Amino acid sequence: MKSTVYLAFGSNLGDREGNLCKACEMVSDMEGFELIECSPIYINPAMEMAEPAPGFLNMVAKGEYIYRPLELLNQIELIEKKLGRTDKGGYKPRTIDIDILLFGKEAIENERLAVPHPKLTLRPFYLVPLLQIEPELVHPVTGEKLAACLKENDQAQMILYKDNLFRHV
Ligand code: ADP
Ligand code: MG
Repeated sequence: MKSTVYLAFGSNLGDREGNLCKACEMVSDMEGFELIECSPIYINPAMEMAEPAPGFLNMVAKGEYIYRPLELLNQIELIEKKLGRTDKGGYKPRTIDIDILLFGKEAIENERLAVPHPKLTLRPFYLVPLLQIEPELVHPVTGEKLAACLKENDQAQMILYKDNLFRHV
């Protein structure tokens, strides 16, 4: 059975746009995954980092996936590695970070995976691009409209970096 999944991409090291572009390409080439749509790319100051760090480029992609969530995590972690990600687990600059925001309506909590992503409703760099693809999206566990989780100035803080780069691929 296919599940609709939403992935968040972030890069604040090296060729940030190139990293997002390659990650998106590699994700769309993953076995069992079909890329449906990508959000625009936004630029954000680095938050929650251990020390001052370069700004992030962030985007979200929607896809259909035929395997289970842990298989998806394995595949995206392999892509992170191939793109030079070395520092898993720390709040350090990274060439690429790929997070699973939603996996169908599933609620998963184990030592490797928490889905829906626990910070989904708190991070504008997840919410703004996600809602751009799917404005009416509802949190599958709490039932709340994700648009209601946006704070007043969240959208104003997100600077559009590039629109339509890979939209409707
Ligand atoms: P972060 O994305 O929070 O900056 P990392 O990318 O270093 O952190 O990931 C740390 C660990 O988070 C991963 O090894 C992975 O097992 C775990 N993880 C838990 N839930 C998720 C999720 N929804 N998406 C991606 N990784 C997740
Ligand atoms: Mg991550």
